[in-house]
Amino acid sequence: MADEGNRRRNHGLRMLLAGAGEGLLVIGADAVVRLMNETAEEMFGVKRAEAVGSEVEVLGSREIAGSVRKGLEAGKGGRARSVRTEVGSRHLTCMVRPFEGVPVEGDEGDEAEDGVAITIRDDTELVECRERAEAVLASTGDGLIVLDADGTVGYANPAAVSMLGAKVKRAVGRQVPFATLLGEEGEDPTEAARCGERTVREIVVEKPEHRVIEVRTNPVKGRHDEYLGCAISLHDVTAEREIAQMKNEFVSTVSHELRTPLTSIKGYVDLILDGEAGEINEIQQEFLSIVQENSDRLVALINDMLDISRIESGRIRLKREPLQLVDVALGAVETFRTLAEGAGIELVVKLPEDLPKAAGDRDRIGQVMMNLISNAIKYSPGGGTVTVRVRKDRDRIITSVTDTGIGISKKDQKKLFSKFYRVDSSLTREIGGTGLGLSICKSIVELQGGRIWARSEEGEGSTFSFALPIAPAELIRTPYLQGPLEGGGTVLVVDRSPEVADLVEKYLRKRGYEVIKAYSGAEAMRQAREHRPDVITLDVILDDVDGFDLLGRLKDDESTADIPVVVLSIVCDEGKSCRLGAAEYLEKPIQSDRLVQVVNSLVGKVSSPLALIVDDDRAIVDVLAKTLRGKGFAVQCAYDGAEAMQAVKAQKPDVMLLDLKMPVKDGYQVIQEVKSAEETRGIPIVVMTAHRIDRERIDILAQASEQIHKPFDAAAIAERVEEVLTKRAEGAA
Ligand code: ADP
Repeated sequence: MADEGNRRRNHGLRMLLAGAGEGLLVIGADAVVRLMNETAEEMFGVKRAEAVGSEVEVLGSREIAGSVRKGLEAGKGGRARSVRTEVGSRHLTCMVRPFEGVPVEGDEGDEAEDGVAITIRDDTELVECRERAEAVLASTGDGLIVLDADGTVGYANPAAVSMLGAKVKRAVGRQVPFATLLGEEGEDPTEAARCGERTVREIVVEKPEHRVIEVRTNPVKGRHDEYLGCAISLHDVTAEREIAQMKNEFVSTVSHELRTPLTSIKGYVDLILDGEAGEINEIQQEFLSIVQENSDRLVALINDMLDISRIESGRIRLKREPLQLVDVALGAVETFRTLAEGAGIELVVKLPEDLPKAAGDRDRIGQVMMNLISNAIKYSPGGGTVTVRVRKDRDRIITSVTDTGIGISKKDQKKLFSKFYRVDSSLTREIGGTGLGLSICKSIVELQGGRIWARSEEGEGSTFSFALPIAPAELIRTPYLQGPLEGGGTVLVVDRSPEVADLVEKYLRKRGYEVIKAYSGAEAMRQAREHRPDVITLDVILDDVDGFDLLGRLKDDESTADIPVVVLSIVCDEGKSCRLGAAEYLEKPIQSDRLVQVVNSLVGKVSSPLALIVDDDRAIVDVLAKTLRGKGFAVQCAYDGAEAMQAVKAQKPDVMLLDLKMPVKDGYQVIQEVKSAEETRGIPIVVMTAHRIDRERIDILAQASEQIHKPFDAAAIAERVEEVLTKRAEGAA
């Protein structure tokens, strides 16, 4: 019976072994195969009859034999270990598990034997699949690194290793911080990946060789949206960046070369048209106007090209100043008045009062507005209306330009702001353009923290809008000095081009300045030491030295350090100029009035009483400035209380004309500040007001010398100012 039972059990066991999907082997303590099932027989391609009773080497796998012998040696303490082996074309994964003291059934005395049990899985398909995937990944030129959920580097393809070096290969299987892996400081993008975000950044590596690499990090999600890790792809963009840089340099060099002669052409034509070369007849006037117009167009085109190359190479530098966008809009609209009239287009402005200032670069934002207005007129061939609006929207100021022109299809709207994009139609072809304007506008607005967009209906018209952030209180400018200033200052003009130097000389002599010229760095340094001019204008492109070095030397030399330097340049490098100690920066081609304004403000010797006019209403400031200048005053204009205080600090005015209701800092605050400081207490203040007086602050108002109520007559104000000054002079006497 016992035999029958044993036989059945053995039979059941045999069936279990034969039917098992995994290969099973038992090796005895003498390393001899004791048992092998059919699956193992097939896996190893060795007959059971041959294998059982032979030593483990019979299986034909060095890895298994080694592991078995090691397991047997370890005896009691032996752990189960996983072994991979290749037998024939099969990839086998074996679990080698030592056991001890299993009684050998049927043997006399229940003798126990130690040994090793092995289970074997055939991973051939899996391995082949993985190898195929890896071959694909290895064949791409892009690098790929896979990180597991816990940050362990799971995989890196050969391209990744060649881009980042052998450290990547060594990192596989280990937890290595992202920054170490890429040799790059900064935020770890795997955190973003964990939150499901994709990120793109560009890094520059110098080892194993110089490369610019675009790194994209993508989260890898499981079936239930769980985070499995992230895939980092590396794209080598070195060549693209080099070509882009070469192109930018080329454009920038060519543009500069074009600008230099244009500066002379434009400058001298302007002078002739201004009557500087004697009277010209009507025909000469007409012809020269055409030259002027076309040189202006050429300057505009070159500027566009330079702008693009500056933007793309990151060399554009934007000022951040408080801007009354209403004024910028009015200026831009004025520029197009005549053009719009000629095209039968009505130009409408809808500008509210009391808008806070936005932060931005006046010239660049003006450029954006002019571009939008110019397009609105250009693409409204049948006349119509162009409306310019400025309004406040929460913490931003939105400017929009609406036309009733040809409109833009939905499809084209998406691409409008890309470089060189023009809507392709017979009409736009006829109108002509470069397709650069809007792309420049977008970059300018976005670089200043703003946003630009378009809404349009084909055939109905378009609205282009941009939003800029409201200016924070700390952005304050010092107003320019205007009016009769003590002439006779000396300006050293440094420019390698004699024509340009002559032009600057003409502008300055006309305003009463003495001019000395230098055409090289060495000459400039000598002249500066010898003559100690009041101001130096410096073009940074010189033949013998780098202009910025010269600027540095002028600032280092005790005898010249105090002389203010105005950098005149085509190299848009305001930031560098200011860092090196330049007092001002002006771009070429030079605008003569701007240059004179700057030099005036720097030399700053007012020969007549100085009146500071403070009002946020530009029209009032303008008319007062004009009237007072007419009376022989020097004037300085400020458009809010903060600017006013800045002006007072820079140069003490003899009298102040002050509005009460102003943004940033109001008139009451200005009075308080001026009257509370010892050195400014004596400045007489004439308050101009149209509003009801703030009863609670009436005592502050009492400190002012005079009050005038709006509306007033500018001439009457000028008289009052004179009275105030005479009174003060008498008081002092
Ligand atoms: P350009 O006017 O020199 O072609 P822009 O970049 O300023 O370049 O404009 C790109 C394109 O957008 C234009 O070619 C034109 O097709 C379209 N566009 C721009 N503004 C308007 C507008 N106000 N109405 C209709 N189409 C416009």
